Amino acid sequence: MSGTYLGMPAFPKAAEDAVRNVTLRGNLRHATHTIRDKRAKAVAELEDWDRLRAAGKDIKDRTLRHLDRYLLQLEEAVTAAGGTVHWAADAEEANRIVTYLVKAAVGSDIEQREVVKVKSMATQEIGLNEALEAEGIAAYETDLAELIVQLGDDRPSHILVPAIHRNRGEIRDIFEEKMGSWGRAAPAGLTDNPAELAEAARVHLREKFLRAKVGVSGANFMVAETGTLVVVESEGNGRMCLTLPETLISVVGIEKVVPTWQDLEVFLQTLPRSSTAERMNPYTSMWTGTTDGDGPQTFHLVLLDNGRTDTLADEVGRQALRCIRCSACLNVCPVYERAGGHAYGSVYPGPIGAILSPQLRGTGSEVDASLPYASSLCGACYDVCPVAIDIPEVLVHLRERVVEGGEVTRNGERVTIKPAKGHAVERAAMRAARWALDHPDALRAGQRLASRTRRIHPKRLPGPGHAWSDTRTLPEVPAESFRDWWQRTRGGAQ
Ligand code: SF4
Repeated sequence: MSGTYLGMPAFPKAAEDAVRNVTLRGNLRHATHTIRDKRAKAVAELEDWDRLRAAGKDIKDRTLRHLDRYLLQLEEAVTAAGGTVHWAADAEEANRIVTYLVKAAVGSDIEQREVVKVKSMATQEIGLNEALEAEGIAAYETDLAELIVQLGDDRPSHILVPAIHRNRGEIRDIFEEKMGSWGRAAPAGLTDNPAELAEAARVHLREKFLRAKVGVSGANFMVAETGTLVVVESEGNGRMCLTLPETLISVVGIEKVVPTWQDLEVFLQTLPRSSTAERMNPYTSMWTGTTDGDGPQTFHLVLLDNGRTDTLADEVGRQALRCIRCSACLNVCPVYERAGGHAYGSVYPGPIGAILSPQLRGTGSEVDASLPYASSLCGACYDVCPVAIDIPEVLVHLRERVVEGGEVTRNGERVTIKPAKGHAVERAAMRAARWALDHPDALRAGQRLASRTRRIHPKRLPGPGHAWSDTRTLPEVPAESFRDWWQRTRGGAQ
């Protein structure tokens, strides 16, 4: 997976910088609270929400258990409908395939070396825009928030609302300064009125929709039984990219397959309510291969692995592959609300990013090793997840991997991960606790000694200042241990 932001510090440092930004905190708080409140109301409308959630979880688990079978079924159906399927083991291979396909589609026409894009996490994950740019191909984002991010030379900070960290005034400034160098300039006298900003984006994008020969998308779902791809969105830009260009290239993670249309029905109810708090998405685009005289005449599907098979091999961690990218977990997370998405150093921020990125990329880097700790383990993410991913369970599992090291599968091979540095004191403390709990007599003697000397115990953890221990006092040792109290009052009776 190549979606690491180069030069990004590990989460604690990045978050420390982010929480000092008062404007960012204000923007995030306002946006996440607004979305989460709306989501709660939309979900409460459905009496069978819990059953839908359980069904979504079961469908995803069943699909992941037989992923090989469903992917082959999908390939067969897409091919029969006139599409071409490509398999990409990693980001590099996916980028190479897409670049080749774009060049083949536009030929020698240098003016046409451009693509219009539907918002897609998978293409961000593989760094497709940068790979195309290196080959002289311009990739234009057409989702409004992605456009803001692209024009502002910025990075997305939320799965659903990539420019959540920007307010209206900042967006107006970006449009005024940058639109002209990417195409049609913003109108003179543009204000921060949302309708005016949307109109400026609409006019700017329209000429790109009408001109581009190639569209690039991801997909929310792929239906194996018919080879149908599904994109849900709210702005209509996706519909333009999926229907106007002559060639359509879709880059989709292999976990996005669902076996049947009946299975799809569950997610078309849970996804919009969990993400945008809508009963259904304003635009649901579905296409199956190609159709003569209607829409793109050439369709390529690039199936992306990039660490997913390795994730599937982990019995605890594989549940992250159920994710339907609704972003509900981000909007309820107290850590995300304060630190924002950039602090996670990955295209997948928030609670899902904290468990997905270290699995797709491995825990070898400082950034990835820090992500499983980017959580208070409060469990709010699990409560709202429409496919019941137990994010706290996976976080604890990954913390264990970071501390203990061990063996994992990478590109089909077993590799050893070294234990993380910097946890020596914790490891020593745990070893000491294990020994004490294994030796009851020594534990009892230690407790009595601690009780007798309790008046001279320090009130804080000794050692150099630490952000956590500096603000907390150590609990007082009681005058009598529970065991001694039990012995004294009950005479050892069970
Ligand atoms: S982990 Fe669950 S709540 Fe978070 S984005 Fe994925 S599906 Fe949505």
